[in-house]
Amino acid sequence: MFAPAPVNLLDFDLPGLVAWFESIGEKPFRARQVMRWLHHFGADDFGQMTDLAKTLRVKLESLACIAPPVLVAGQDSSDGTRKWALEVGVNNRVETVFIPDGERGTLCVSTQVGCALECRFCSTGQQGFNRNLATAEIIGQLWWANRAMGRDPKGDRLISNVVLMGMGEPLLNYDNTVRALQLMLDDYAYGLSRRRVTVSTSGIVPAMDRLGQDCPVALAVSLHAPNDRLRDELVPINRKYPLKELMAACGRYLEFAPRDFITFEYVMLDGINDSDAHARELLALVREVPCKFNLIPFNPFPNTAYKRSPATRVRAFSSRLQEAGIVTTTRKTRGEDIDAACGQLAGKVEDRSRRVERRLGVA
Ligand code: SAH
Ligand code: SF4
Repeated sequence: MFAPAPVNLLDFDLPGLVAWFESIGEKPFRARQVMRWLHHFGADDFGQMTDLAKTLRVKLESLACIAPPVLVAGQDSSDGTRKWALEVGVNNRVETVFIPDGERGTLCVSTQVGCALECRFCSTGQQGFNRNLATAEIIGQLWWANRAMGRDPKGDRLISNVVLMGMGEPLLNYDNTVRALQLMLDDYAYGLSRRRVTVSTSGIVPAMDRLGQDCPVALAVSLHAPNDRLRDELVPINRKYPLKELMAACGRYLEFAPRDFITFEYVMLDGINDSDAHARELLALVREVPCKFNLIPFNPFPNTAYKRSPATRVRAFSSRLQEAGIVTTTRKTRGEDIDAACGQLAGKVEDRSRRVERRLGVA
């Protein structure tokens, strides 16, 4: 005989928690009370929920648990960036990064253990894929980081923005990601505005359409190349969802998005995608999509063949885009000394399926 695993309350968004409370004969407002305890106050013990009757607390304890991922390490960069490693099962870790920038504090969250998409310039992609993170493991990163960061003297949280730009492709872990997004937005949980929550995707076209319907938040699209030939090589998922389809999906998304532009991310790889000719081709490609560009100087990792474009080249490329009227920023490299910069998050992945071709039927 074995007992069924208790339900982890961090896996539910609010409608899910209400439904579960009803299934155990409890009123919806109890679910809302508990949600506030879990996410507003970061409670990890039913005993802390002092406005619930003792009998209800005992009942919840017998049926459910509060199980965030296990925090195994924290590291602080000299520039204020902080990184935490969370254990998500035997031999697997994911990383989450806090990046302070003036008034803004951004948490960069992971959605998968590794990634199956094997973008050539990405350390996570080179590690292979193990599994999707559960909702509790995605929201658990914000849960832990809020605990660790605390609040400012006014009582506001230090984490004002969330970007799903850590390990993994969020739109290939759709349901768990959307549930975690709903929690980020929910006033009973984290209450962030849709404009302050950004999903970054390599361009999973059908899932972009679904996201626009289900949970529109700010969208960043990892472009990295101005034509299919180069993008097929750098971002292999392009073979399945080529640029024409991707641009059309960006246009459709904007009908629902909380912002009136798409952010295109573009990693600057020396001699590969960073010439003036590439910039011109890019301008023609995005002509019909209201957008901003975020240029990301390539962050090297062991055994990579790529090099970061020189700063003068990044500036020239940026000027070409800006001369055409496109707002273009260059991402500051943060947290490099603790391997917390974009594309450097490696966590620990026991690879179970490296081949993008096998998982996605590409090529
Ligand atoms: N899978 C999603 C989100 C995670 S990657 C996506 O691809 O959008 C987050 C961002 O970091 C992406 O724009 C990605 O292209 C970029 N990135 C990956 N590796 C990088 C590296 N080595 N240097 C700089 N940026 C990198
Ligand atoms: Fe995956 Fe994004 Fe890295 Fe590509 S860039 S391998 S989609 S995490």
